[in-house]
Amino acid sequence: MSRARVLVLNSALGPLDYRVPHGMQVEPGSIVVAPLGPRQLMGVIWEPERMPSDAEVGDNRLRNLLAVANAPPLRPALRRLVEWTADYYLAPPAAVVRMALSSTSALEGSRLVTEYRATGNVPDRMTAQREQALERIGDRQGMIRELAAIADVSDGVIRGLVKVGAIEGVEVDIDSPYPVPDPDHAPPSLSDDQRAAADSLVADVATHAFRPTLLDGVTGSGKTEVYFEAVAEALRQGRQVLVLLPEIALTEPFLKRFHDRFGCEPVAWHSGLRSTQRRRAWRAIASGEARVTVGARSALFLPYADLGLIVVDEAHETSFKQEDGVHYHARDVAVMRGKFEGCPVILASATPAIETRQQVVLGNYAEVKLPGRFGPAQMPAIEALDLLEHKPDRGRWIAPPLVKALEETLERGEQSLLFLNRRGYAPLTLCRTCGHRFQCPNCTAWMVEHRLTRRLACHHCGHIEPIPRACPECSEEDSLVACGPGVERIADEAAALFPEARVAVVTSDTIWSPAKAAEFVGRMEAGAIDIVVGTQLVTKGYHFPNLTLVGVVDADLGLEGGDLRAAERTFQQIRQVSGRAGRGEKPGRVFIQTHSPGAQVMQALVTGDSDAFYEAETESRRDAGAPPFGRYAAIIVSSEDQGLAQDVARTIGRSAPEVEGMHVYGPAPAPLAMLRGRHRFRLLVHARRALDVQDVIRGWLGALDWSAKVRVAVDVDPYSFL
Ligand code: ADP
Ligand code: ZN
Repeated sequence: MSRARVLVLNSALGPLDYRVPHGMQVEPGSIVVAPLGPRQLMGVIWEPERMPSDAEVGDNRLRNLLAVANAPPLRPALRRLVEWTADYYLAPPAAVVRMALSSTSALEGSRLVTEYRATGNVPDRMTAQREQALERIGDRQGMIRELAAIADVSDGVIRGLVKVGAIEGVEVDIDSPYPVPDPDHAPPSLSDDQRAAADSLVADVATHAFRPTLLDGVTGSGKTEVYFEAVAEALRQGRQVLVLLPEIALTEPFLKRFHDRFGCEPVAWHSGLRSTQRRRAWRAIASGEARVTVGARSALFLPYADLGLIVVDEAHETSFKQEDGVHYHARDVAVMRGKFEGCPVILASATPAIETRQQVVLGNYAEVKLPGRFGPAQMPAIEALDLLEHKPDRGRWIAPPLVKALEETLERGEQSLLFLNRRGYAPLTLCRTCGHRFQCPNCTAWMVEHRLTRRLACHHCGHIEPIPRACPECSEEDSLVACGPGVERIADEAAALFPEARVAVVTSDTIWSPAKAAEFVGRMEAGAIDIVVGTQLVTKGYHFPNLTLVGVVDADLGLEGGDLRAAERTFQQIRQVSGRAGRGEKPGRVFIQTHSPGAQVMQALVTGDSDAFYEAETESRRDAGAPPFGRYAAIIVSSEDQGLAQDVARTIGRSAPEVEGMHVYGPAPAPLAMLRGRHRFRLLVHARRALDVQDVIRGWLGALDWSAKVRVAVDVDPYSFL
């Protein structure tokens, strides 16, 4: 090959052609360095027929490629996935391929670094911090900063331990090998139901064929244990496995469970990795040496050498949908990756999405069910508390029957969880004297009071301000009042009700790293917490046998937005959080506080009749032609200049093509009319299922032009309508 088409990592550019200099060996998928003007860019060689170029350059004007990366070429399966994702989500291929090359340092050669580990020597002078550090580090090895993070101490403490010989440095190849998980390390003895489910998944792995399966089992039924059997089978076959989790906070407990089952940790991939860890993981994944990778959605685009199984755990979670950059849904892309790789895909969930259930109905996905909880554990009894009948005391949010249940649970020495999906102390702060409300200067949103940090914060753009003593509008002092509850306020209420109880707040403000999550799990398991007050972060994954009471503080909250998935999401979220109760031998109780106990979703939660609920929801989606029976795509126009954004949105609206089976709504100001200082307008495209709506939108927007001050984003299969 003397001429090569290269997808350079610049989303504004299409593919470019280069000359391959004499002696350079490249093939489609090769990762190369290409010149662009005075700069050098990373890129990937692509089949020219699959990536048309709109600027053909004559042979004599081609520039030479500069280098080939010291890494294997991207395999065809991954290249097809990049093409599919770019096509389906209307994203520049370069933006998708960037997710595959997410560690630039991995593309350089090998390197040596110093890592540290405990020597077993006990320091002469032991301090509480040193003791904590040595205990938490155990037999782990890593850079000073990594060990400090694991131990939750400063770098200085680790350095001190090095000085006194309790920790030593070792030279390692930066890409030192990972331990290999052993499929036969500690297999569980499965129940008959679990065995049947596991056998069917194992058989799929053995056939090496694409096959998506919904693993549908109530919380605590042992879905993880069951899909671990399929993981074990893939390991026996010598192939790689990818497990996707919705939240990085969940990785830590997962790593521990994996370690118990397979004798070592899998390779973790998430945004919290430092660049050396990222590099080592990337290279091991590309070489095939990393056998099992667990990660957040970005792990989906990594260059696995030989993928034998993909698992999407908690597959119904909406956090699998990426809301900026490339707007992809990791659950759906995972299925496509399985298709291109030719391997099974397991979607595990206790509350599968309607979209996924429909695929089962259509026969596109298989279904494996786990009907009951494992062992003696029973599903908890759920009771709705009508807030009109059971009014909380003035200025309080916990209704008397729930207070009583908390008291009983405390007396028995068991743990409780209060769930409210709202961070901070209060969602709105206003001045009692003049009525002034604190609004974010950059967004159409109220500032949320955080007492733990004594600040007002915008949850959309991150803008923060100190809480002033005087009202900025009328200057009255001490006149500000908090309206409504957030988790911090509920925690205060619990502490006031039960001064002797140990209360913990669990939100992304308090659990921002895997180490923090591990610490929380440790405290729960040690019985050092009586009442947890948490957001959706505590609704999934955790298994605390002594947690027997769950109170949902405001079950109506999720219904407020009213988008097409509001009832489904409320159902899933409350079922999930209910699933935290009574996972051990002690039975669990759940109270859901609501103003509309008669609402269909509340009834379904109380009776536990999820089939009836899903049927009704599915029918109403069918009537509305909503997903999965029809399709949506949102077009979001934004600019710092409101007039400009509005003009472009109107032009787009006016140019909408007349297409049979497609309807365009808007433009209208977005519910979040301003976000991060940008004014936003939305159009919503509604189309019948069979229509290639991407193609229509490509042609429609492709014919238009707008100022560089305006951004037009397309969100195919949107989950957020804000
Ligand atoms: P799910 O993912 O369905 O909520 P898990 O896989 O987390 O359920 O299982 C719930 C609990 O039951 C876990 O502590 C798990 O270790 C335990 N468990 C499930 N199946 C078995 C089994 N066959 N043997 C031993 N423990 C099991
Ligand atoms: Zn803001």
